[in-house]
Amino acid sequence: MDFDPVCGKRVDATQSSPNSEYKKKRYFFCSERCKQAFEREAERMRLHELAKVGALLSKGRVRWGLA
Ligand SMILES: [Zn+2]
Repeated sequence: MDFDPVCGKRVDATQSSPNSEYKKKRYFFCSERCKQAFEREAERMRLHELAKVGALLSKGRVRWGLA
C-alpha cells in the first residue's frame, strides 16, 4: 500500500498507476495531475540542492536567479 505524496490519498499501486522515480525511490499517484505536480516540485528541489552544493563550493557566491 502506498500513499500519494501530493494529496495524501491511499493508492493501490499497480503497473498502470501514474508513478515517478525520485532519488531511487518510486512514488505512486492517484492521478496524472498529482504526478505532474510532484515532478514539478521534485525538479524545484533538485535545483535547490544544486544551488546549495554551489554555495558550498563557491563560499556564498551563489546566483539564486538560476531557477
Ligand atoms: Zn493525488
